[in-house]
Amino acid sequence: MQNVTFFGKRWRVEWVEGLPELGYCEKADKVDKRVLLDSRLRGQKLVEVLVHECTHAAFWHLDEEFVREFADEIAKALFHKDMAPYFLKELTAAAAPKLGAKNGQETKHPVSEARGSTGSSRQGEVVVREAPEGLPD
Ligand SMILES: [Zn+2]
Repeated sequence: MQNVTFFGKRWRVEWVEGLPELGYCEKADKVDKRVLLDSRLRGQKLVEVLVHECTHAAFWHLDEEFVREFADEIAKALFHKDMAPYFLKELTAAAAPKLGAKNGQETKHPVSEARGSTGSSRQGEVVVREAPEGLPD
């Protein structure tokens, strides 16, 4: 999986099946720290949770409400009908080698819609308040 680096500190991004929260960011002073993403995440919600957890990683001092609103607005902006078409071609091109290797079969994390809401917590993780629509509880 990929890494994200903020201000010289690196987090390994990992998909987790059945994560209690949609996402989680381990503290910056931890060795081998990770940003965890629930493997059910898709589409705008995936972008929101990734931005949310990366914002915690980069700016640990920011409060949960600020991080939630920031990530939500970034995800909404990227997925807005006037903006999304500009990203579609680039995303498809970026995924092409992986898609080609699987002979066009569905990838593990195809882009599609998933919705749910997130809540706050002390350690900066995203807490699921409701299950994303269309996903098993
Ligand atoms: Zn958070």
